[in-house]
Amino acid sequence: MKLKSILKYILPFIVVAVLFSVWYFKRRTVTVTDTRLMLGTVVEITVMGEAGERRDILYEAVESAFLKIAEIETIADRHTAKSEISKLNRMAKEGELGPIPVSDEIIEMLDLSRIVSERSDGAFDITVAPIIDLWDFSSDGKGRVPDEDEIRKRLKLVDYRNVAVEKGTKEVSFRKTGTRLDLGGIAKGYAVDEAAEVLRKLGIKSGVVNAGGDIAVIGYKGGGKKGGDPWRIGIQDPRNPKGLIAVLRLNDASVVTSGDYERYFIENGKRYHHIIDPKTGYPSDSSISVTVVAKNTALADALATAIFVLGPERGLRLVKDFAEKTGDGENSVEALIVGPKGKLFKTEGLSKIMEYLD
Ligand code: AMP
Ligand code: MG
Repeated sequence: MKLKSILKYILPFIVVAVLFSVWYFKRRTVTVTDTRLMLGTVVEITVMGEAGERRDILYEAVESAFLKIAEIETIADRHTAKSEISKLNRMAKEGELGPIPVSDEIIEMLDLSRIVSERSDGAFDITVAPIIDLWDFSSDGKGRVPDEDEIRKRLKLVDYRNVAVEKGTKEVSFRKTGTRLDLGGIAKGYAVDEAAEVLRKLGIKSGVVNAGGDIAVIGYKGGGKKGGDPWRIGIQDPRNPKGLIAVLRLNDASVVTSGDYERYFIENGKRYHHIIDPKTGYPSDSSISVTVVAKNTALADALATAIFVLGPERGLRLVKDFAEKTGDGENSVEALIVGPKGKLFKTEGLSKIMEYLD
């Protein structure tokens, strides 16, 4: 038999064998997933290892990542009496301005908050806490609109410029008594970054950390093989909990969504939700939902909140400003915004990573 005809005979078998091994290898990736209630939400961590990787090592990595998130929660949650943020807030209540020493993590969160506040003209502002305390957006949907005069009075305490961060000595002081901080718009993202960092350090090459929609993906899906499939992250339709408005294809990136459907109540037919416009003290009507893709979850988190308050046009300008100033090229930050009337707005680069569903 000639070589050519032999080849013709065995080629189909080779193709089948190759396809089978690809399928077999993919099937053989090891996946470990765990879910816990933390940071006031559901935190899910998934890691994938290549075939043959030890499951107990993956479990340990997931455990360490959860521990890290708990650590961040302990220092940043203002509803935990012993947290560093609570200490700062108590100090201000007692009429003192500080300074008091804080951890590196708090310094980092406050510093990033200041940058986003400055560039968003105060749309993002962690000193919004006294206003948040007037509202009740707890999950039962039974909140009530607070007294207008009370909101006006407390608005005087809202100004990010009243927070002074001394990076050298790692100290924080306030410039106005009564200042109170709420890191709810950035701490989840920061905790996700820290957890993803722990996983990477422990050798994880493929995984997802998801804290109630603040998501970091590590590598590609399935054992971290370069050229593997990107992770596919669904973006919720803000008016249909079971529907998606888009699916994003991502590797080594973060995606965060802020929406008016997360925590809210309805009074006289109007929706009041947890994202406050620091200029008015009322929930912002400028957007319905905002999704931000960035290299860093904390930044994506703060930006999503800021863009929500700014609305689509000003929000897209803020994204552009960040993309340019980080010097990381246009693609360092992307956004998908559902405007106040339901219209979709997006950055140009988003099309490259986005699958439309209809
Ligand atoms: P997110 O879900 O990331 O949009 O953040 C919303 C949370 O951040 C709220 O529950 C508040 O704790 C806090 N927050 C609300 N409005 C603002 C704002 N304009 N700037 C910073 N933090 C805010
Ligand atoms: Mg946020």
